[in-house]
Amino acid sequence: ADEVALDPWGSSSVSDYRKLFEEFGIEEFDEVLEEVPNPHYLMRRGVIFGHRDYRPVAEAMREDEPAAVLSGFMPTGDPHIGHKLVFDEIVWHQQQGADAYALIADLEANAARGMTWEEIDEHARSYLLSLLALGFDPEEGTLYRQSTNREVQDLAFDLGAEANFSEFQSIYGFDGETDVSHMQSVVTQMADILYPQLEEPKPTVIPVGPDQDPHVRLARDLAERMRFFKVSEAYASFELEPEERDIVADFYKRLDPAEFDDDMLRCTHVAEAIAETPLEELAVDASTLDDLLTKLEEGGMEPVRPRTRFFDRRATDEAFDALIDAIDGEKRVYENHVDAFEIDLAEAEELAREVEVDNGGYGFQPPSSIYHRFMTGLTGGKMSSSIPASHISLLDDPEDGYNKVKSATTGGRETAEEQREKGGKADECPVYELYAYLLAGDDDEFAKRVYDECVGGERLCGDCKEQAAQLMKEFLEDHQEKREEVEELLEDADIELES
Ligand code: SF4
Repeated sequence: ADEVALDPWGSSSVSDYRKLFEEFGIEEFDEVLEEVPNPHYLMRRGVIFGHRDYRPVAEAMREDEPAAVLSGFMPTGDPHIGHKLVFDEIVWHQQQGADAYALIADLEANAARGMTWEEIDEHARSYLLSLLALGFDPEEGTLYRQSTNREVQDLAFDLGAEANFSEFQSIYGFDGETDVSHMQSVVTQMADILYPQLEEPKPTVIPVGPDQDPHVRLARDLAERMRFFKVSEAYASFELEPEERDIVADFYKRLDPAEFDDDMLRCTHVAEAIAETPLEELAVDASTLDDLLTKLEEGGMEPVRPRTRFFDRRATDEAFDALIDAIDGEKRVYENHVDAFEIDLAEAEELAREVEVDNGGYGFQPPSSIYHRFMTGLTGGKMSSSIPASHISLLDDPEDGYNKVKSATTGGRETAEEQREKGGKADECPVYELYAYLLAGDDDEFAKRVYDECVGGERLCGDCKEQAAQLMKEFLEDHQEKREEVEELLEDADIELES
């Protein structure tokens, strides 16, 4: 079929990644690679192939500014080498300075997959052990379960007020038979995605497989909507007289919704700038907002980083305080500023005095995402948890891991002669994938050598698999040893292991 189906709970595999770029607006990762500090080998080798809006995250990490990474795991079975990609992505972002969050999607496992709580507990523990064994620092990072995180539940409830059934229908194909818990698990997941920004808006990346993109798009959408939600909430908490309410309504109406963000940001910028600048330095003559901003910047004012802060309580207060000062200051120059806001002085004053927003406001930034390729199953086709021979579990006996690699399908030719002549098809070979995704580790040269030798006909599948099998065995031994070592770390970590 030509259609690319993205179903987060289905078994669809995405065969043509290019279509994702065209149809869903996922961007090619290669285009941001240069902006990423010390890119991970999965990024360098194109295993992470796509992204949505990753630039702000890369920039924040470069500039040592707040950023976050979050991913969730549905504990439906043992963690396998496909999950290791996501573990690695979380750990790497944490090492680059991002606040790292890993959560156990126990509600989703229960609602969408029908797992019992006992099964969930057992697998949850196992996922976390592997994550810690791969380098996650639980003291710096946050681990939690959906079901026991009250803040996530509250946020989910708020988000639920912004989503409706027909939307879920069209995104996830929910119908009249879909149970309510399943819908609840969706809003919970949205809350997970936005959770790192609860205290403070910051660029946040969600590393996922491309099948999870519908979740990311909905979360981005809801993040956007929450700002408007807060405006309406603000109305409700204004407790204004009817005509005061009109003034407020009018004020918001004046902003073009398409430009909403921008206008609000600009007002905040100017107001912040005014608040921080001695009066005499503000004696610039400016007639438009752009003009004013330019002049303020020329005067050595740091332009505020473009992030949506208007509904951040402090920013809002400062903005309105600055307006009050502007009005009380009786300086002509302020009139210019206020002209530039295109806000009537009297109205602004009214607003500034009356607006008391009790609620902090969310001010979320739309979350970013990065997408990695799915690993091909060792037996060909999709790697699937339900087909043991198709994948290698991180808990597999190292000897079994060795044997699975030895019996994997390859991109080799019919005969050794043909292979020497035409070379192997590394691009279609699950064994080559093992090298590129895992076995070569950070060693690009090694990965490249395997590739070149394969396609050049110098490498034959028997030896190649023997080497890969050996490396896999060593990896599993090492990983399982580390899992034992981090047992204690996990006991000490701030997460409830049993439901
Ligand atoms: Fe795959 Fe190795 Fe055979 Fe090449 S030589 S097709 S990489 S198993």
